[in-house]
Amino acid sequence: MARQRIAPHVVVETEHYGSNQSCIIGSEGVALVDAPHIPSDALAWGYYVQQFGEVKYLINSDHHPDHTIGNRFLPGTVVSHAETRRRLESEEAPSMEYLEDLLGRLDPGNNHLLENYTVRLASILVENTLALHLGDVHLELRAARGHTRNNVLTYLPQDGVIFTGDIVCEAGLPSFQDSRITDWFDALDLVESYDFEQVVPGHGQVTDRAGVERYRNLGRTVVREVGERLSRGQESEQIIAEVRFEDNIHVATPCCAGYPDDLIESFQVRSITRIIEDVQQNPDLLTR
Ligand SMILES: [Zn+2]
Repeated sequence: MARQRIAPHVVVETEHYGSNQSCIIGSEGVALVDAPHIPSDALAWGYYVQQFGEVKYLINSDHHPDHTIGNRFLPGTVVSHAETRRRLESEEAPSMEYLEDLLGRLDPGNNHLLENYTVRLASILVENTLALHLGDVHLELRAARGHTRNNVLTYLPQDGVIFTGDIVCEAGLPSFQDSRITDWFDALDLVESYDFEQVVPGHGQVTDRAGVERYRNLGRTVVREVGERLSRGQESEQIIAEVRFEDNIHVATPCCAGYPDDLIESFQVRSITRIIEDVQQNPDLLTR
């Protein structure tokens, strides 16, 4: 099932190409977590969630296009980390050319949706913590460094659900290019410090505490392989050329062409480069 009611106040969509989306339903409106990557999915999701009440907030868990492109096509006041807004306003934001190329592949036939496109930015910014109230439901948001330096965790205590963005991905490892590996491990510790039953990850199926641990082990395996090669005296170039981890996030699916191979390869190269830098600076990472 693509759309599931996973808890009394939570509906989750896990089958869109790109990130997962959540709809948190209170007696005085709803909050969405993350926006679909593909514009036509975003329009459909916006239509679907209307039945649950007025969309008050749209929370972005980070600035990457697979979580923010769809903001434009959804209602609600956008809420993000302050740094997410800054990055989307800066030259770090993906160019229109990049977005048109990518979405031409991912959403063929819908290029008109990108005419005069600009990303819709947050007007409520999280620097540390933020509480949002939707009548009988309240949410605790927290800024966290992890997958990026500008992630936001969303916690719904009364249902025991935490929405992690790409700090946890059930589908497998994401790119590390915007991470510091210390932050990556710290963020997993932070997630595990919450009292929850279910995790809505950035990508993949809804999971639990054991899913967080499986994900940590995937990262650990790559970091340790890099560390082991460095300790054998291997050159960075060789490590960058040879170490790969499975990408289940950007690849093609039965219904979507996915990212181009050269882009996926560049994510791998930048991820392994980042891990090498961080392990060299901080060998303690190998024991985490
Ligand atoms: Zn993502």
